[in-house]
Amino acid sequence: MRGRPCCTEPSNGRATYAGVMFLLFGFGSKRKHVGSGATRNCPRCHNTTQWVRMKQYQQFTLFFLPVARWKRVEFEECGICGAATEV
Ligand SMILES: [Zn+2]
Repeated sequence: MRGRPCCTEPSNGRATYAGVMFLLFGFGSKRKHVGSGATRNCPRCHNTTQWVRMKQYQQFTLFFLPVARWKRVEFEECGICGAATEV
């Protein structure tokens, strides 16, 4: 008896290469540590410490590359309670 489908022959099992395109994009606000800020008296926790200077911006990334950035703000943040003031 012959005619048994051999396993080496290409079966009609469909290899579905779905045309999936990975469009990796991101959107959101980013915070960047810029350096140390001024020594301030915090209005919230009333501690006098050196604040941290931060930069924040909204950004849109495509394939991990930033395409657009807007709404940049620079501010200083209290290292103890996290209160922030724009500078
Ligand atoms: Zn504080």
